[in-house]
Amino acid sequence: MTRATTPSKRQTKPAAAVAISPTPGADTVVADLRAVYATRRTRPLAWRLAQLDGLDRLLAEQEPAIAEAMAADLGRNAYDTWFGEIVGTKAEIDIARKNLKRWVRPQRRSLPLIQLPGSARVEFEPLGTVLIIGPWNYPVFLTLSPLVGAVAAGNTVVIKPSELAPKTSELLARILPQYVDGEAIRVVEGDGAGTQALLAQGFDHALFTGGTEIGKKIMEGAAKTLTPVTLELGGKSPVVILSDADLEVAARRILWVKLLNSGQTCIAPDYILVENSVKPAFIDALRKVLAELRAGEPDAQRIVNQRQFARLAGYLESTSGSVVTGGCTDAASISIEPTIIDEPAPTDAVMTEEIFGPILPVLGVANAEAAVAFVNSRPKPLAFYVFTRSRATADRLIRDVPSGGAVVNHVAMHCLVPSLPFGGVGASGMGTYHGRWGFETFSHRKAVLTKTQKPDLRLQYPPYSEFAKKLLRRVL
Ligand code: NAD
Repeated sequence: MTRATTPSKRQTKPAAAVAISPTPGADTVVADLRAVYATRRTRPLAWRLAQLDGLDRLLAEQEPAIAEAMAADLGRNAYDTWFGEIVGTKAEIDIARKNLKRWVRPQRRSLPLIQLPGSARVEFEPLGTVLIIGPWNYPVFLTLSPLVGAVAAGNTVVIKPSELAPKTSELLARILPQYVDGEAIRVVEGDGAGTQALLAQGFDHALFTGGTEIGKKIMEGAAKTLTPVTLELGGKSPVVILSDADLEVAARRILWVKLLNSGQTCIAPDYILVENSVKPAFIDALRKVLAELRAGEPDAQRIVNQRQFARLAGYLESTSGSVVTGGCTDAASISIEPTIIDEPAPTDAVMTEEIFGPILPVLGVANAEAAVAFVNSRPKPLAFYVFTRSRATADRLIRDVPSGGAVVNHVAMHCLVPSLPFGGVGASGMGTYHGRWGFETFSHRKAVLTKTQKPDLRLQYPPYSEFAKKLLRRVL
């Protein structure tokens, strides 16, 4: 079924693979950062805010360099890089700068009668030295926004960007020290083996963003040093379209997000379950909107590398569904046409694996309950989307489907709301970040109880009198 095409107009040539040279000092980076942490210089609010200011300046001044690196790594245009990398990172910086003074404040807690007199509080203590491991698909947003939480919490940090976005990895390693405390925040470049070598040094926390299979290897590596992990993983994020939905609005929102970054977005709509009664009309809407959104664009979208291209081309070749539109691939420019597949078998690779490319399967379902049953028969998704006019139905579906996050009448936008936690559940991940949640992920919640030395009632200590036992049983 896969058809060869000639490379289309304005197609970006894939960048030649760039070998990443080992980062000097990588083998002692944790010991070095622990020494910096021990000086306590990352503790004061002023240091934390200075790092956030530095990150803000980095985004403002380096946007053109970031866009250039992203064009080479992913073939992405400058506007999409601004939207995908800068907007979300800036939102994280802004909310942290605005609220950090409040976030770091210890929280008072009430005491049970027996503990009086005294006071209790929760302190947010930095964890120490933490690791952030990034993927290639949004290599700035997905390293710098966790960094916001990590520095807001007062940690020293190692960032390990993906070797599959080599220009961006090199850029981050070069420019980050110009904007932040380069002795406390280090970039170590490298691949999977390099990441495992880092993990073997032992961290106080590691936040990983990437695929579920590599996530397991991260957890294995981290277990050897009891490094706690936050895993931001992938999976298939479904969309349910009910018969009362505005089909054209749904099609426009779904395709807009699906086609960003050539579908290589963790929370991109992966497949559609649409009520049978509106399926033909919805497919017509998808066709129409796709033509509108792609007007003046190349026919096909560039995929990150040959391996991912071959994987996606294989999905197209092996599916038993019918191609509604698109379906062409071009090996020379590793590009794939935005493709809608009607009724693939649930066992087709395109329906069992995370797609992570510009391919959108559409399946008909009898009703909302059938959609819920379909989704719940599979691993828990990172995100779940519902389009309907009925608030009550949307709420019911969201309650009935366990997922990392959920959006009603749009897709993916929850990721740009920094007051919401972001993360997966089950196979789509563990732990959350963004906004205050990022600060807490990189903090230890320390329970502190302060007692007075007097009074010191003798009756609470042994040997217990019968009266003391009775009294203590009553009050404890
Ligand atoms: P990946 O898992 O291949 O790689 C991510 C990172 O892991 C890279 O830095 C890589 O160097 C490192 N790595 C690779 N092999 C390793 C190993 N054996 N041991 C230790 N580290 C290793 O992920 P990717 O291909 O860069 O990104 C795509 C995946 O990430 C998709 O599944 C996508 O859904 C997921 N993702 C999730 C989120 C999220 O926020 N939940 C965001 C973006 C991407």
